[in-house]
Amino acid sequence: MKNIIFLAPPAAGKGTLSEMLVEKYGYAHISTGDLLREEIKNKTEIGKQAEGLMKEGKFVSDEVIIKLISNRITKSDCENGYILDGFPRTLNQAKEYDELLSKLGKDLGVVIYINIDKEMAMKRACSRITCPKCGRIYNKYSNEMKPKVENICDDCKVTLQQRSDDSEQTFVKRFDEYVSKTMPLYDYYKNKGVLEIINAYESKYETFNEAVKVIER
Ligand code: AMP
Repeated sequence: MKNIIFLAPPAAGKGTLSEMLVEKYGYAHISTGDLLREEIKNKTEIGKQAEGLMKEGKFVSDEVIIKLISNRITKSDCENGYILDGFPRTLNQAKEYDELLSKLGKDLGVVIYINIDKEMAMKRACSRITCPKCGRIYNKYSNEMKPKVENICDDCKVTLQQRSDDSEQTFVKRFDEYVSKTMPLYDYYKNKGVLEIINAYESKYETFNEAVKVIER
């Protein structure tokens, strides 16, 4: 299976799309945001460094992120293909990742850019709720993504939570970070000939179908 990198602004649907592709193809799902949230939960040194930055909508250092990624992609569940959700986010991360891949003899795979406008992404971020136990993502205002019982995970039956960085104020900062630091990756990967573009639709199934076409092309 081709490895996948999702390139998209916050709340474009990277996490949801990743969950759907993991179910269809059995990819390993690597979300650097989830890895960092785990470090925070476990009160590690990395977690302590990352917490404040994440609350403010700022990026965590490239050094920390590369360390997390190089540990994660060498695990055995990544041998048959993995999805990178939220990495790389800077040109420097992308270049370091290229070096890491050539050292490990792994392929970059395909980069899928999810096209979404700022308003739709903001609406999604502010209504997104997540299960603290299994990580499943819900959305209060989407018929196909709301939980069966208000604010309760369908599977784990625990209360859903809003991420602390999904407030309107922090979202704007995260979006600005994305535009200034992550958007340059669009040209970087386009020039390498590995970039594919799909659209974020209201329905996650439409977006998923576009992603499947790209993967199976
Ligand atoms: P996410 O769950 O992907 O929206 O990431 C949540 C937050 O974690 C981001 O707003 C950043 O503060 C941090 N983060 C996640 N991935 C990266 C990355 N590749 N580089 C820098 N910071 C990151």
